[in-house]
Amino acid sequence: MLLIEEKYRSVAQMLFSSGSCPRCVLRFCCVGSTTPYRLPYKDLVCELRTYLAANPGAVNLGDTTDLHWNPPCKRPKLDVTDENQGDNESTNFPQCEGTNEPPVPKTCNLCLGILQHLSEAQFVKEIFQKVNSAGYEFKDFVFSVSLPAQLSVREYSAWLQAKQEMGKQGCSFDKADIVQLKEAYKWIIHPLIAKELGVQAVSKSLFEVAVVFAHPETDGDCHFLAKVCKDCFKATKNKQSVFTRMAVVKALDKIKEDDFHASFSYPPQCPGTVCEVVDIQCSHASLFVAGRYNKYSRDLPQTPWVIDGERKMESSVEELITEHLMAVFKAESFNFSSSGREDVDVRTLGKGRPFAIELVNPHRVQLTVQDMKELQQKINSSDKIKVRDLQIVTREAMAHMKEGEEEKTKCYSALIWTEKVIQKEDLQLLDNTEELKIAQKTPLRVLHRRPLASRARIIHTMRTEPVDEHHFRLYLKTQAGTYIKEFAHGDFGRTKPNIGSIMKTTADILELDVESVDVDWPPALDD
Ligand code: ZN
Repeated sequence: MLLIEEKYRSVAQMLFSSGSCPRCVLRFCCVGSTTPYRLPYKDLVCELRTYLAANPGAVNLGDTTDLHWNPPCKRPKLDVTDENQGDNESTNFPQCEGTNEPPVPKTCNLCLGILQHLSEAQFVKEIFQKVNSAGYEFKDFVFSVSLPAQLSVREYSAWLQAKQEMGKQGCSFDKADIVQLKEAYKWIIHPLIAKELGVQAVSKSLFEVAVVFAHPETDGDCHFLAKVCKDCFKATKNKQSVFTRMAVVKALDKIKEDDFHASFSYPPQCPGTVCEVVDIQCSHASLFVAGRYNKYSRDLPQTPWVIDGERKMESSVEELITEHLMAVFKAESFNFSSSGREDVDVRTLGKGRPFAIELVNPHRVQLTVQDMKELQQKINSSDKIKVRDLQIVTREAMAHMKEGEEEKTKCYSALIWTEKVIQKEDLQLLDNTEELKIAQKTPLRVLHRRPLASRARIIHTMRTEPVDEHHFRLYLKTQAGTYIKEFAHGDFGRTKPNIGSIMKTTADILELDVESVDVDWPPALDD
């Protein structure tokens, strides 16, 4: 059953006799049921012929034969089962009864062959092979299609003609009622791909299969639009052609019907070639992995340290973690982020610093808790870093890592040297200081990459442990974002007060460790 409403009969006749394929006829007759579109192509042609012939005098079928194939069918095929749907469609064109002539497939003037030759088993196999060889893990897929822009021009031309045809019967015809080519295409091809891949096509999936079509033979169809609607077609750097689908649709919205008629006549010519498949691309949405890291080395930057193209340190925290992640998730690239960062010579101890990594276009995504544990163990084979709480998280959850970063407290321990011999009272003075407000001008050492500013920070508490006459260990709890090294040595008076000014001597910091980063994310995992 074609399910064409009687009022569209003349539109069907008009389109079919001018070189449009039966599936485009269904689209323009606003058939919203998927069933007729999914009929094997040859059966659909026969059914449409039979349907149109049932209204004697309306159309001379002899006129249409060379546009589809020769000669007209006498019967629609009725015994269609799921098994042979989609097989041997237009690749093996039917011989209709009563002829020995092999039928010649013609390319539709509206879909340029997409609903004929590119929605059949052979093309689906091509898609399947491409997806298969790309080696992705997925549990469903979303299918997207990129169409040549001139399809909109051809469709617009057919719509104007169909509107006129409907007008003769006193009916209006809204362009929005036409079934979109993309939609009809998905109706046909979704079940076929799903059957091959063994998973469902859905409207939202992390895994996307994208097919890009082009049709160079008819690219010129759009060109007249640039003369009529100049401002719709502006050259941009990244685009190869100004005739993008967006621009063409915009121009068709603006153009006067008479202007269109004057430049582009109906029917559009049937092309000699079918749409080219420019690309079949597979991609997987980013996956996010989070955890906490400890850094035990004073010669290890957090991220690769490169000055003027020259590498300064052998490795980095980022690399020691991501090299294992990239190997396991088989991602294309990554983005590393963390809750703050430490200097190259600063260790990060305690429970570690939260970090998150975006893995772009990962091929492997289905990892179990056990897999993640093993991955963590692999990373922890390094003696320079350790990670914990390694887990897959959502993009949204990553926001927790940066939340309230400024308000959080951080704990440090430092080895301090003083010029003068340390007195007991000096250390007691520090021990008894609470909620000390300090003013810090941007440190000299970071001035090349941060603007000059003065900011207030709070040293919540300090605790000391004597080491010898000139050294002591200082434990600090501070507001996040405090420059600890500068608080110790004073940065030539740019941080006030500082350890030296409080103890009335010259002080310096020899070692610094981050003892804790108080961010409750990611959630701690049992080991
Ligand atoms: Zn078509």
